[in-house]
Amino acid sequence: MNDDDTFPSPAALNGARRRPLVAIIGGGVSGAGVAYHLALAGRDHPPAITVFEPRAELGRGLAYDTNDPAHRINVPAARMSLLPEHPTDFLEWIELNDAIADDPAARRVDGAVFPRRALFGRYVASALRPLVETGAVRHRRALVTDVERDGAFWRLSDSQGGQTFADYLVIATSHPSPSPPSAVMTLAGHPKFVADTTVPGALDAISSEDRLLVVGNGLTAADVVASLASTGHRGPVTSISRRGLRSRGHPAIAQDPFGAFETVPFESATQLLRLVRRTIREAEQAGHTWHAVLDQVRGHGHMIWRALPVSERRRIVRHLRPFWDAHRFRIAPQVEEVLDEALANGRMEVLPASITSIGRQGEEINVVLRQRNAAVLERVYDAVVVTTGPAHGGILNSQSWLMKLRDLGHLRLDPTGLGIACNLSCEALAGDDQPDPTLLISGPLARGSFGELMGLPQITEHAAFVASELDKKVEKNTERY
Ligand SMILES: Cc1cc2nc3c(=O)[nH]c(=O)nc-3n(C[C@H](O)[C@H](O)[C@H](O)COP(=O)(O)OP(=O)(O)OC[C@H]3O[C@@H](n4cnc5c(N)ncnc54)[C@H](O)[C@@H]3O)c2cc1C
Repeated sequence: MNDDDTFPSPAALNGARRRPLVAIIGGGVSGAGVAYHLALAGRDHPPAITVFEPRAELGRGLAYDTNDPAHRINVPAARMSLLPEHPTDFLEWIELNDAIADDPAARRVDGAVFPRRALFGRYVASALRPLVETGAVRHRRALVTDVERDGAFWRLSDSQGGQTFADYLVIATSHPSPSPPSAVMTLAGHPKFVADTTVPGALDAISSEDRLLVVGNGLTAADVVASLASTGHRGPVTSISRRGLRSRGHPAIAQDPFGAFETVPFESATQLLRLVRRTIREAEQAGHTWHAVLDQVRGHGHMIWRALPVSERRRIVRHLRPFWDAHRFRIAPQVEEVLDEALANGRMEVLPASITSIGRQGEEINVVLRQRNAAVLERVYDAVVVTTGPAHGGILNSQSWLMKLRDLGHLRLDPTGLGIACNLSCEALAGDDQPDPTLLISGPLARGSFGELMGLPQITEHAAFVASELDKKVEKNTERY
């Protein structure tokens, strides 16, 4: 892309009638979604939108910028859409482009479609591309390295040596790198120790017969086991997490959400848990499964979360989150089949355990595991993969410009530790709790305020909401530009 390194040019910045300037850091679905909905808001005097994203295309982000055929979307295609008001848009795009012709496994016997994650990335990128080509959205293919206040503007410096000025800044960087448990860091430098599975080629060193320890039992663990199986890994796998809970699959038959959660004014985590348990019993009596109840809770997640005092939100994060995550983040059926087979034939075990000690003898890795029932296991592995997922609680330490914004009092961690503190208009809350109308948080990093905000359906709804908030600001301040 040919792009002036200073944007806008000084003449345009100081011109009599300039465009409002919006900068978005992060071009995954969250950031690209905000840009998409804002660019199509239909203003006569549209804002100049810059999205900073080092990846080649906007809209892929961490989840959908993968060529691994074993990586599948874990929500049916019929519910993954860039357009919240048109949930089947992705499914229609698939049909229109005959996009799963080379992937017959994508369509399940009940008709649900779970394509490869790369295909969803292609769909979002194809929606953004025309906006980039026409200049409605500027894709700055760079990492933001510094953010500063400069008079009324935000000034962003990037890894290509550029400077961009903005009236409004949106942070949509979502998923920081994982933070491996300190016990495993003694393996740093071992050729078969994988601390971050998001690094391209991270699993390449693992051989087909390697004895594998997977630290973590969630969706990333499922991806790792499925990816390795698809390239011929047949060695034994131990997968551990503190409680030994593993991500569940989808119901055999699709069900409508079940239960009444919208009318109850929840005051405590205990009250919510009791109602969820009771509703699951009622659902089972009515021939449904727990899936239908959790889907209903998820559907009303924002309302439930907002009604709870912060202390109760923290209790949920501390005590209930592992159970919520295991049931709510479901694995794609194709991935579940691989795991079920490995568990059934004894090749894989899932243990409630933590690492007591870990050391190496040559290339062999000696591990002492303590199980939840206090039993101690001594095992030898050839490879260790950490799949504990992005370290959202460490977001403000993950990049120097975020640290700086925190240290200068522009940002602070949400009290739940789930992301960055913001109000219900997505405006960042400074150290003194005052919202900054020019600094917005989009996507999963706003979870502390909004609750359920990780799955794609909620992400795109939220992106459209952030775009509408920005659009209102631009309209309100139109005389400034
Ligand atoms: C591996 C994985 C698989 C998932 N699969 C599904 C699924 O199948 N279905 C579903 O509903 N949900 C899924 N999710 C949930 C996921 O959170 C959302 O679907 C969505 O992808 C989140 O997108 P995002 O834009 O918020 O974050 P991200 O994808 O993390 O995008 C953030 C972007 O910010 C960029 N960035 C970071 N720092 C900077 C910087 N300094 N300057 C410029 N750019 C920067 C990064 O390059 C990145 O592309 C998955 C999540 C993960 C991690």
